[in-house]
Amino acid sequence: MNITIVGTGYVGLGTAIMLAYLGYQVTGLDSDQAKIDGLRAGALPIYEPGLEELLASASANLHWTTSYADAIPHADVIFICVGTPPLPDGHPNLSYLESAVRSVAENLDGKPQIIVNKSTVPIGTGDWVLRILEEHAARHAGSRYEVVSNPEFLREGTALGDSLYPDRIVLGGSAWATGRLRELYAPLIEQTFEAPPHIPRPRGYMQPAVVETTLTSAEMIKYAANAFLALKISFANEIAGLCECVGADIQEVTAGIGLDHRIGTPFLAAGAGWGGSCFGKDTSALISTGQDYGYSMPILRAAISVNDRQRHLVIEKLQKHLRLLKGKRVAVLGMAFKPNTDDLRDAPAHDFITRLSQLGASVVAYDPVAMPRARREWQHLTYVEAASAQAALHGADAVIIATEWSEFRTLNWSEAVCTMRTRVIVDARNILTLPLQVPAVLEQIGRDHPRPSFLPAE
Ligand code: NAD
Repeated sequence: MNITIVGTGYVGLGTAIMLAYLGYQVTGLDSDQAKIDGLRAGALPIYEPGLEELLASASANLHWTTSYADAIPHADVIFICVGTPPLPDGHPNLSYLESAVRSVAENLDGKPQIIVNKSTVPIGTGDWVLRILEEHAARHAGSRYEVVSNPEFLREGTALGDSLYPDRIVLGGSAWATGRLRELYAPLIEQTFEAPPHIPRPRGYMQPAVVETTLTSAEMIKYAANAFLALKISFANEIAGLCECVGADIQEVTAGIGLDHRIGTPFLAAGAGWGGSCFGKDTSALISTGQDYGYSMPILRAAISVNDRQRHLVIEKLQKHLRLLKGKRVAVLGMAFKPNTDDLRDAPAHDFITRLSQLGASVVAYDPVAMPRARREWQHLTYVEAASAQAALHGADAVIIATEWSEFRTLNWSEAVCTMRTRVIVDARNILTLPLQVPAVLEQIGRDHPRPSFLPAE
């Protein structure tokens, strides 16, 4: 099967390289000429662990283009992976999808072709895409196509492992079309491929479940899955707030409740809350879909408001110790919305830097991989870049740990804290273990430590 991937962002690029690694001829198409020029020269436009190595081993099967006329006619399966960012009213912006589908429609070949929606799209979009294709078919006799919803569940930072060893593959569409995709995914379903040495098969992993369903149910599965994960994080954060009130420790509480196999420990980490391009967008989209039907979704609204509260809480914790932030110097460690990615979309650090600037503080920021992207995408923010975490802390009045990069866990905190002007640490990801070897104020989320008094450096 020949495959074309439309949209080579975080999802499309990982999918293209993974399918090429499995042995398919894959054409990656993007409207961004600079991205395609870079890919042709072997340069990845995003940071994703292991992607560079997999690209090197699969590059013979990969072709890059900006031309629909080059990429569509020969393709048996066309994956649509363009962005669906949120509009101000919460509905996803489908203009990229519409433009991509219209361009695909213009270039269909007449042989049976399958258009697979991997972008996260509102429920009913598959039928809408089909209508756009039908509109086109009325003008160009002979086009034969099917639309399938194949939602993507990869996580940035572990995208390749998630793609090669998924929990499940969801296929929504006609029996013929989902059957063809089963064939395409056979190496994954049966796990017959040789695992790349740098992304080994997880111990005990057998094979993914395949869920064959309707277009509409497949679209709902994606949103409902993300909404549930967002809910879990907000639940942990809500309980964390009460832990602080009563003097319990959220880390011990979530470990305790997560041991119940009906609950499970993942996504119960209390902290600065979720960020990234998916949870905020997808929960808002689900609420907006409900509104279209006059149906309210109070649980999801609560999850969003708890998440917003977490970001304010971090600044309040600083204010509690520093009182006035005006004129203070605050180090922000971590800019990406989570570790092992350079993705800055809806990153808590963005809100921290914005609020600190509004309150008159100066910000020194550091991230192990996201700083070049921040230089391009956060030009509207005011902060000074530090060359390392250690350098960011030097002379600072306080530090916020905004992303749980492993290098922040292993930093020599005792040494770094001694270079601060005043020693206030707001660990918004609960990564530091106590006790620190030097006196300092440590604020975490949902953890009630015996707090040593606030010590200005001598
Ligand atoms: P992205 O913004 O990183 O990439 C989208 C790409 O599409 C860009 O390279 C853009 O240039 C390209 N594009 C836009 N319009 C185009 C057009 N008309 N023709 C060709 N290319 C076009 O987005 P992403 O993070 O990869 O997300 C893509 C979709 O997958 C979204 O719907 C998202 O919700 C969903 N998703 C994302 C993740 C994730 O972790 N990022 C996980 C699961 C699902």
